Amino acid sequence: MNPYTSTWSGVTPGDGPQEVHVVLLDNGRTRALADQVGRQALRCIRCSACLNVCPVYERTGGHAYGSVYPGPIGAILNPLLRGVGHDEQVDSLPYASSLCGACFEACPVRIDIPSVLVDQRAKVVDARRGHRPSGHTAEALAFKGAAVALSDARKLGFGERFTRVGLGAARRLGSLPGLSKWAGARDLPPAPPESFRAWWSRTDGGRSEGEGR
Ligand code: SF4
Repeated sequence: MNPYTSTWSGVTPGDGPQEVHVVLLDNGRTRALADQVGRQALRCIRCSACLNVCPVYERTGGHAYGSVYPGPIGAILNPLLRGVGHDEQVDSLPYASSLCGACFEACPVRIDIPSVLVDQRAKVVDARRGHRPSGHTAEALAFKGAAVALSDARKLGFGERFTRVGLGAARRLGSLPGLSKWAGARDLPPAPPESFRAWWSRTDGGRSEGEGR
């Protein structure tokens, strides 16, 4: 027996309901069904096992989810049913998780909630990007630069030479309007005097340093 299934019958022939009217309410389920990753949330039988093991739900309680579906399943089902990109609270729900995976382990119908959460986060980002071309935001440009540098050892080695300059500039830029929110909550580490590669080639992989000890 689950909250969506009730069995109605009589105890003798002719007893019990003589007519049955079925009313199907969509309430965004067609939208959820169309989501290739998220549609598995429709398997939920509302057993609440994921709520009981969730460290976030344990702290926040049900009202924080703004819906009758709280906890880990609410964090994916609400965005799936209501869509993302037009409600601040709904958009925040996929982020209400440390992705510890306890919900997935507890779920009797094996809904991979952590994977859906990550997918919903991507959809929130895409929705909030609006009409701006994805490649033109400062964040997108930064990640494009990182992708170029990290895809090739020589490019990475070249970029490492500018680490000290880059970190120094980032410290100064952090005080600029727009970047202060990001930098205000993070401590940039001081740049090391030399990169790991430089240390490796200078010490022959640490051997020459070990000899000196
Ligand atoms: S554990 Fe699975 S079936 Fe139970 S409420 Fe959570 S998502 Fe639904």
